Formats: sequence, structure tokens, C-alpha cells
Amino acid sequence: MNVPRLIDGKAAAAQVLFQVRKDVDSLREQDIQPALAVILVGSDPASQVYVRNKILRAEEVGIRSVEHRLSLDTSTEQLLNLIATLNTDRSINGILLQLPLPAHIDELRALEAIAPGKDVDGFHSENVGGLSQGRTVLAPCTPSGCLYLLEQTCGDLRGKHAVVIGRSNIVGKPMAALLLKADCSVTVLHSRSPDPQALCRQADIVIAAVGRPRLIDASWLKPGAVVIDVGINRIEDDGRSRLVGDVDFDNALPHVSAITPVPGGVGPMTIAFLMKNTVTAALMQQQAQRSQSEALCRSIY
Ligand code: NAD
Repeated sequence: MNVPRLIDGKAAAAQVLFQVRKDVDSLREQDIQPALAVILVGSDPASQVYVRNKILRAEEVGIRSVEHRLSLDTSTEQLLNLIATLNTDRSINGILLQLPLPAHIDELRALEAIAPGKDVDGFHSENVGGLSQGRTVLAPCTPSGCLYLLEQTCGDLRGKHAVVIGRSNIVGKPMAALLLKADCSVTVLHSRSPDPQALCRQADIVIAAVGRPRLIDASWLKPGAVVIDVGINRIEDDGRSRLVGDVDFDNALPHVSAITPVPGGVGPMTIAFLMKNTVTAALMQQQAQRSQSEALCRSIY
């Protein structure tokens, strides 16, 4: 077998961001300044770090970011009011609601309140439904990033058997939908799947999105499989705190043809695709406005 290839998420994210920067520049030449509104409710430390990183990355690629920090005691109604204002604000192209929300807020209502065309996280049911129908919509960022890495690594994905481990709404299910759209045969495993190792061993492609440190070792993998590790788990190792994936990297490495490391694999792709979705949203809104103006002109003349 060939030497296993390390899939470099940082380099791939840099490629995506390079293209985003070019798209932002060309929109600016048409007097359109892409803008992302980020809403953070409360002061969860991890969420604050995520929000800061998203805003920094937006600035780097020329996307204007507008931060809305709401206090922990914000009500669902107050959050919905802010979302309604941002929905109608034509200077805002994308709205990101940082999750998790405090327990008293109705998360589903808040996510459903975001205009589907500004839903850069791809969590609105209209985008979820569109994705499951194979339509081109704003798709969730992490699975979109995983698909990009797979296409770069494997080339044509048609006919490959992909096993997705995990069925969450933010990773597992949209990942399965994207892989189906790419003409893979897809199996989704979850906590109630009997003998998941046996099913996983049939896969050409494995996407692990479980949230269990180093759950997947060589006994789960067909020799030569391509492995995308979405998991981000903090563990104590020899008295040191560090991040590991859902895949036991050292154990799996000799059995695979390619694998993402943690950190440095899927993580950088998520933010890169958030930026890409913001520019896509701006382009879609520009297109919709043009169509409206053309229709108005036709109705006048
Ligand atoms: P989740 O807890 O919502 O879902 C986990 C899924 O794993 C569930 O569907 C469950 O059925 C399944 N599962 C649990 N135990 C299993 C087992 N033994 N065998 C098979 N399936 C099992 O988690 P999530 O939000 O999808 O996140 C998964 C992991 O991905 C976490 O580590 C999270 O931190 C990470 N994550 C990373 C990024 C990124 O940008 N890299 C983004 C989102 C999530």
C-alpha cells in the first residue's frame, strides 16, 4: 500500500478563502460590500472564542462583520426581533446565530426565523429540505468543508461507498445528503446501530462525527479507506489537556490511504465555508434583486 496521505485542512481552507477574497473583491467593484451579522447570546467562553475567530476571518477576506452580543437574560422574543431587523436590513447578507443558546431560548424558533437566503449556517428547514432534494442551497459549513476535502483527495466520488458515523442535524445528516448528491452510496451509523464496525469496514470513505475520543480504530476500517475525522474532543493526556478526534489517529494511520488530523483537518474548513456561504448569499441576493428589477421594468413598459 502507498504511504498514507495526511489531508491538510489548513491548506485547503486557505484555497477556499483565496477564492472568497477574489469574489469579495469583484462584488466590491460592483459597490456591494458582503456583510455577516453574528449574534452571540450570553458569555459562554468557547462560543466567545468561536465568534472572535469568525469575525477575524471575515475581516481577513474583506467581509464586513457586525457583532450583536446579547445578555444571558435575553428572551426568545427579543432575539426574534433582532433577527427580524437583520432579515430586512439590505446591508446584511448573512446571519449567524452562535449555538448553543441559553436553555430558556427556543432554539428551533430562532433558527427558523432567519431568512433562508441569509441562513449561512444552512440550518433553516427550507435549506435542509432543499439539500435533501439535491438542490443547490446554503448548506451547513462543516459537512460542506468535508465534501471539499473528499473531492480534493478522491477526485470523482461517484459510486463510492461512504459511511457517516453520527446523525446530528449539523453534521451527520447534511453530510449524508451532500454525499448522496455526489452520487455516493451512503450508510449512516448511529448510537443504536448494531455492529457498526462491520458496516464501517465496508466503506471506501469514512466520516466520523460522533464526539467520542478515539472511538474508531483500525478494526473499523477497510484497508485503503479515506477517513475524515470531524470529532473535536478535549482529553487529559499525561497531565496535559489536548484535542483529539473521534478516530484513533496513530492506530488508524497505517490502514488508510488518507486521513485528516485533529487539529488541522476539518476545523479550519468550517470557518472557510462560513465565509464562502456569506459570499454565496450576497450573490444570490444580488441575483434576486436584479430579477425583481427586471420584472418591474417589464411590468412598466
Ligand atoms: P452530536 O452529539 O449531536 O451527535 C453525535 C452522533 O454520534 C449521534 O447521532 C449519535 O447517535 C452518534 N453516536 C454516538 N455514539 C455512537 C457510537 N458508539 N457509534 C455510532 N454512532 C454513535 O454531535 P455533533 O454535533 O454531530 O458533533 C460530533 C463531533 O464533531 C463532536 O466531537 C463535535 O465537537 C465535532 N464537531 C466538529 C466541528 C468542526 O468544525 N470540526 C463542527 C461540528 C462538530
